[in-house]
Amino acid sequence: MKFRSTLGGAERPGFSEVLRRGLAADGGLYVPERWPNFTLNDFIGAQSLSEVATRLLAPFVEDDPITLELSHIVREAFDFPAPLKRVQGTSPGEALSVLELSHGPTAAFKDFGARFLAACFQRIQKSGSGSINILVATSGDTGGAVAAAFHQRSGTKVTVLFPKGLVSPLQQHQLTCWGDNVCAFAVRGTFDDCQRIVKQAFGTVALRQRQQLSSANSINLGRLLPQAVYYAATSLAWYREHGMQLSFVIPSGNLGNAVACLWARRMGLPIGRVVLAHNANRTVPDFLVTGEWRPSLSTTTIASAMDVGNPSNMERLRDLFPEVAELRASVSAVSIADDAIRRRICLDHERFGETWCPHTAVAAEAWENMTVESRRENAWCVVSTASPAKFPEIVEPLINARVPIPETLTRLFDRPSVFKEIDMSLKALEAELTKIN
Ligand SMILES: *Cc1c(COP(=O)(O)O)cnc(C)c1O
Repeated sequence: MKFRSTLGGAERPGFSEVLRRGLAADGGLYVPERWPNFTLNDFIGAQSLSEVATRLLAPFVEDDPITLELSHIVREAFDFPAPLKRVQGTSPGEALSVLELSHGPTAAFKDFGARFLAACFQRIQKSGSGSINILVATSGDTGGAVAAAFHQRSGTKVTVLFPKGLVSPLQQHQLTCWGDNVCAFAVRGTFDDCQRIVKQAFGTVALRQRQQLSSANSINLGRLLPQAVYYAATSLAWYREHGMQLSFVIPSGNLGNAVACLWARRMGLPIGRVVLAHNANRTVPDFLVTGEWRPSLSTTTIASAMDVGNPSNMERLRDLFPEVAELRASVSAVSIADDAIRRRICLDHERFGETWCPHTAVAAEAWENMTVESRRENAWCVVSTASPAKFPEIVEPLINARVPIPETLTRLFDRPSVFKEIDMSLKALEAELTKIN
């Protein structure tokens, strides 16, 4: 498979090169040149995530050296479950399930994409020289997932920049507890400053080449594509058992998770309707109504991992459905305010006994707001993107109870936290990079 840019540039790199570059030369995002078409028969005998992954991802790597390693890579990346659980206590005639994507090392769905990308980079770098240096600016969750995924992987190093004093204590620990090939820096500035320095570093060609800098954010196809796997495996299992498609409500920010679901549907998997559940950042819901693309600055909400005013994967969504009418017919999008998120966490704890994280509660509220007919006609699945244990300061007062901490997270607390403070300048970062490499 070759890949093309959403902006139409002439280059057609293969899989490994696409991962290494991250962004296309013309500034667009990479998408597959064509879509494989799967039928249910293609997945006979494939039950586990890694078995489904091997078949689903094979066409994308078939002419790339990494194809020989695919089965090893997916076994490493998909080594924790994504269980689908029925929610008990819904009204008669309504079936609601929840897909739990929070059982990885940092208790959020980003672990899947980050682990797949890390396993790929380790193989890609084997044939190269030196180490590939992943540079990531984080407002909290992404950096932790990337650090955990790359920790102790040969041929890779990770440099994490986070804004000093502006991430939660738990998030800071997830960023700083690794050591070895992972270095964390508290930047004296905001998240936007961190992001600006990272962009400057990538824009400085000499530095980028000398340090072999690469990125691991969700514009990298190697993080997005593997996310199609849990949608494929879940919808297949549902179809085998119930003979009908499964429809998803997806907490959305940069749209990486949602686009992966739509890619799985495009490839022929039995997926029904798809709802993009946004917080108060309503750029996408507004676009579906007006047809005008008006990106904005982000608004701060309690579902902070979705505080995005200019979703980077919108380009991939538009590429999939170039006409607005087609897009409207294919997905719907809603915006949920903070007070409704809080109320939903509270109410669903009482009536279903479920404890949602603030992001998952956005999707649960979107399901609640559907018409009764829609809830009855489709089998709905709310996608749970993180464990509520990551957000105790928000969730615990609402449910008036303690949230148990999963073992994956307690294990991290046994590790010491190490980081260094630096000024918010490219010069300060460059000096540190030179010491590391
Ligand atoms: C990143 C994140 C999201 C948003 O996912 P996108 O792929 O950016 O749309 C939702 N929930 C949680 C917990 C996240 O960490």
